[in-house]
Amino acid sequence: QCAVVCPTAAISIRTNVTDIWDAIEDPSIRVVAQIAPAVRVAVGDNFGIPKGENCFGKLVSALRIMGFDMVFDTSFGADLTVMEESKEFAKRLASDEKLPLFTSCCPGWVKYCEEKYPEFADNLSTCRSPQGMFSAVIKDYFAEKDKEDGKRTMVVSIMPCTAKKGEILRPDNFTDGRQDTDYVITTTEVVRMIKQMGLQFTELENESADAPFSVASGAGKIFGTTGGVTEAVLRRLAEDKSYNTIREISYTGVRGFEGTKEATIELDGREVKIAVVHGLANAGRLLDRIRSGEASYDFVEVMACRRGCIMGGGQPSGAGPRTRRSRMEGMYNADASSNVRFSEENPAVRQLYDHFLAGKEHRLLHRNL
Ligand code: SF4
Repeated sequence: QCAVVCPTAAISIRTNVTDIWDAIEDPSIRVVAQIAPAVRVAVGDNFGIPKGENCFGKLVSALRIMGFDMVFDTSFGADLTVMEESKEFAKRLASDEKLPLFTSCCPGWVKYCEEKYPEFADNLSTCRSPQGMFSAVIKDYFAEKDKEDGKRTMVVSIMPCTAKKGEILRPDNFTDGRQDTDYVITTTEVVRMIKQMGLQFTELENESADAPFSVASGAGKIFGTTGGVTEAVLRRLAEDKSYNTIREISYTGVRGFEGTKEATIELDGREVKIAVVHGLANAGRLLDRIRSGEASYDFVEVMACRRGCIMGGGQPSGAGPRTRRSRMEGMYNADASSNVRFSEENPAVRQLYDHFLAGKEHRLLHRNL
């Protein structure tokens, strides 16, 4: 075991690669993986694959060969986040309370806000992150089957982020006292596991995620780059669900690497002001302007890492401007090539809300506050 240091200075904790290999060997454990959106465009870096190429399918194959029992896409969890966060945003807009709504899917940002700007902590969305929501759903979903099979389910998240290792230990992310995500490993740690297995990563076939969560929308996939959460929520709130709406939202100013981006859109006859920031220095400056009354917004997306999760502290390092741009383009290509572009049109999400999730949304998808 060795120490991993988070560049956002959020945490310094140990890697659990050995524990995961042990669990895979244990027949009484159902080892389930979920892969975050940004991992797919960076995991190929160490295998000579062109920068930004989407390697999700190869990573699924690799994890199955390693012995993971099931493999899912965290973009499905992001779809759940879009459903819940857009509902929460619409409610706050209607009541004019706790605005701006701050996104809560980045643990580096949540910690920074709580510690440096506690007066804004109530503005944070009550939603768990995509990782948190999905792990809670997976644990509950397999609870019955675990009993029948005499097994227990272990959830391993593969994340671009070291701060996610801290997020899973926060009691406000637990379900009835249960820690839903057992372990987080970063992109660089999974690369190490692939190498330990001696797999020829470039030769692997592209395999799909497992049922019943095998479909993830394009909206869920762009969570990996700055502006993606906002874009996905705006798609959800838009009345017209056409390709032109997708295009129009992409032109509002939420895309690109500018440190602070602003957009104004109309929702139900109301002008809605949005800000998207990445990097905690930019977030601090924005919060100072909100606090002094110099700026006002309705929705603010913050990612602690510059350029978002594609450049997270758990991703392969040494990414220059071309790599950063290729990773961002890789995220948008993953969206554009998806059959489903809106989270609410994801048939697996609909099925979940209509049956399994009914009445459990708050318990599984929101933080215990
Ligand atoms: Fe983690 Fe950075 Fe993404 Fe935040 S922006 S979730 S700290 S990788």
